[in-house]
Amino acid sequence: MNDASIAQDLPFIARPVTALIGVGAERASQLARLGIETIEDLILHRPRRYEDRRHLKAISVIERGESAVTHGRVVACGVKWFAKHTKSIFELILDDGSARLHCRWWNMPYLEKQFSTGDELVVFGKVLQLKPRTMDHPETEVIQTGDEEFLHLGRITPVYPLTQGMTQRWLRGLIWRTVQAALQHLTEPWSPKLLQAPIQGLPTRLQAIRMLHFPESETEPLQARRRLALDEFVSLQYGIKSRRAEFFRKVQSLRCPGDNRFTRPFLARLGFKLTPAQTRVLREVRKDMSGPVPMRRLLQGDVGSGKTVIAACSALMAIETGFTVAIMAPTEILAEQHFRNFNTWFRPLGIPVQLLTGSRKIRLDGVETARSTGALVVGTHALLSQGVEFPNLGLVVIDEQHRFGVAQRENLVRKGAYPHLLVMTATPIPRTLGLTLYGDLDCSILDEMPPGRRKIQTFVREADRLPQVIEFIRQKLSTRQQAYIVYPRVEETSGPAGIKAVVMEFEKLQRAFAPYKTGLLHGRLSHHEKEATMNAFRSGVTHVLLTTSLIEVGLDVPNATVMLIENAEQFGLAQLHQLRGRIGRGSQQSYCILVAAAKTAEARERLSVMERSNDGFEIAEADLRLRGPGEFLGQQQSGMPRFRFAEFNTDRDLIELAQRIASELAAR
Ligand code: ADP
Ligand code: MG
Repeated sequence: MNDASIAQDLPFIARPVTALIGVGAERASQLARLGIETIEDLILHRPRRYEDRRHLKAISVIERGESAVTHGRVVACGVKWFAKHTKSIFELILDDGSARLHCRWWNMPYLEKQFSTGDELVVFGKVLQLKPRTMDHPETEVIQTGDEEFLHLGRITPVYPLTQGMTQRWLRGLIWRTVQAALQHLTEPWSPKLLQAPIQGLPTRLQAIRMLHFPESETEPLQARRRLALDEFVSLQYGIKSRRAEFFRKVQSLRCPGDNRFTRPFLARLGFKLTPAQTRVLREVRKDMSGPVPMRRLLQGDVGSGKTVIAACSALMAIETGFTVAIMAPTEILAEQHFRNFNTWFRPLGIPVQLLTGSRKIRLDGVETARSTGALVVGTHALLSQGVEFPNLGLVVIDEQHRFGVAQRENLVRKGAYPHLLVMTATPIPRTLGLTLYGDLDCSILDEMPPGRRKIQTFVREADRLPQVIEFIRQKLSTRQQAYIVYPRVEETSGPAGIKAVVMEFEKLQRAFAPYKTGLLHGRLSHHEKEATMNAFRSGVTHVLLTTSLIEVGLDVPNATVMLIENAEQFGLAQLHQLRGRIGRGSQQSYCILVAAAKTAEARERLSVMERSNDGFEIAEADLRLRGPGEFLGQQQSGMPRFRFAEFNTDRDLIELAQRIASELAAR
């Protein structure tokens, strides 16, 4: 059987692009670079923008500063070299009978081969000056007279993302022919009746695909975008709901009510009372863990809200019932910190606690014998390694969930027979995203801080104020407090020029802070170096810790009260909030200073959110609005549908509608 006949067996839109006339191996590899492998990918290829070519502007009426689409005939073109033949300008002059337009490209002399006098061109760009009327680096398209003239001119024309060796004209033609052919094979994914109120006027999927590529008005692409985004949300949520339904069909009950024989002495020795929020969440957890189906719960709680204690109490419930518990953390530093804490808490209760990370592989022999008494294993993703097994696994806890993908979470869970699952995150997830990313989990929120915490004071400063900031930190050091200084990169060479790097700054700052001692922490240190550095800071041997964002998650050194973040504009807000969460953990007033070369108003506005708010949810919403969902999606993207049209920050109404549609579909 050859490729073509295999393709014939597939539904039309699932066929590879090579099934199309005019697409051979070379074209297919070009298309693959754009993420287009199947016919469906092709018909969902989203235009980058549209040009209204119904009324092309006469060159003579384009004003200075105006962006416009126009066209004309090339009357002259050529390359000029200067600076000893190291620099060049390619220039062509376009004439449409009303006036002339000069188009210039710097240092792209090869363009000379692409244009000739007499060519008809459509150009899009901004006119910078009028004498002569000039556009720099406009986008161009050569018009060839041919059958499909109407495709490229006289309408609202889609302009697609391209790749090397591909022209707009070719791709537009291919998409047009393919959509024509596909329309008869396409069916609506679900009944348009479900589309009714409250969102009126969304087109059907078929209409949307047509509007995407052949809009008849300027609003049609927007309607198309929303409809296709809706389909993405529906497919995501339907997937989540089906998985959840499947899960409930397959699972067996795994009752872990516990009997409090460890929990009670643990809480008594803890040294503080649980907050009402912690108590409430623990009640939710206990209900799940003693219920008829295994727990699937997400615990959201801002940095410092006390999630570790929740993990500990949940672990104790499982251990009391005789099960093994696995806790997975995203970094070795954090895993070891948990190991230390849990050891202190659990050893006196006679519960074995073990550590498993990339650099410390502990054989799990002890667990085998612990079958009747229960045991705790703390680790990194090393827990996922082949051959690592957990006899009698009753509960999996995943800390800082946003650092892991859904697949990793499932891999750990699969090491047992449907154990309970508690995932914890300090990255507050905006509600719209929470619905979509964690729709398969029940959600608990720790919305209350342990008492006695003071609001961290945050200041945004420009780089020239650094000496005063250093002086301020010295002052704090003199009262036996400690400080973090955070840089975005390890070495000067690894980032854009001007970004400070810990390695470079280390010596300078060591001198600036003497006689106080400064430690240095970054990802390129060996495991033992990292551990030694952390221990020195934790025990107060060093006073200042210079670090990359390595410390972002989970570290708990209550005596550290000052944090200086350099090049703060390089970080996302959610990440800054995480970083800032390393301070403000004790009873002393803490200070966070964001030093930024914030040139743009947008960067400034972004950072000022940090000055105003200490609320992770509010910050997350702002981040989503300003930067889009990338930071939240992160690893989650594995196992998710591809989002070509979804805009998480503006599509809240669609996400809610999709919830309802997905529920109806799942109910059938
Ligand atoms: P996170 O939610 O960021 O993981 P942690 O669990 O590390 O927070 O807790 C932060 C700090 O607050 C820890 O030092 C912890 O011992 C302390 N803590 C937690 N719960 C309480 C409480 N109810 N009262 C006082 N301190 C608490
Ligand atoms: Mg934590």
